[in-house]
Amino acid sequence: MSSTTYAWCFDHGTLHHFHAPDEPWCTAAWVPFRAASEEQAMEAKQHAYGDARFFDELPGDKQLEVIEIRETWTSTAGPAF
Ligand SMILES: [Zn+2]
Repeated sequence: MSSTTYAWCFDHGTLHHFHAPDEPWCTAAWVPFRAASEEQAMEAKQHAYGDARFFDELPGDKQLEVIEIRETWTSTAGPAF
């Protein structure tokens, strides 16, 4: 069984698809969404971050949020040392 994680990337300005169990190939600032389809992921992204495509377009508090989410993901899904 494989699952796809949809993540908006504020570095590339586009939606990424990550396929478990592969490691996410993009190491930039992206935010994963609990979504069953690309459409749902885009809705969730729009709801949370509006029209911002790139990191620079986010307000300061959202930039911090993105960084925090990214760090959380890395520590839970990354290799355990
Ligand atoms: Zn990316």
